[in-house]
Amino acid sequence: MASAVTFVDAWIPELIEPGSVLLINNTSDDLGSGSSFCALLNCPNCGRMEVLTEDQFAGRIPVVCGGVDCPAQFYLRDGKTIYASVGRS
Ligand SMILES: [Zn+2]
Repeated sequence: MASAVTFVDAWIPELIEPGSVLLINNTSDDLGSGSSFCALLNCPNCGRMEVLTEDQFAGRIPVVCGGVDCPAQFYLRDGKTIYASVGRS
């Protein structure tokens, strides 16, 4: 199961839908001072706002929704959310 991620230019509540992603800052440098990466995701399952790490944004590690009743766990890949698992047994 996969659904499209929508990249938005601003976090305007009226325009945010489940699966919306806002890339706030993606400036990293090679000087060892670290990355100031910052991105937000609206959970495609429950609509909860999550802060994404650079690894999550790049699809290297899964996004796990922090919603109490939300089982969403997925990867962001190629502009889509790829679900690693959905539903609790
Ligand atoms: Zn969720």
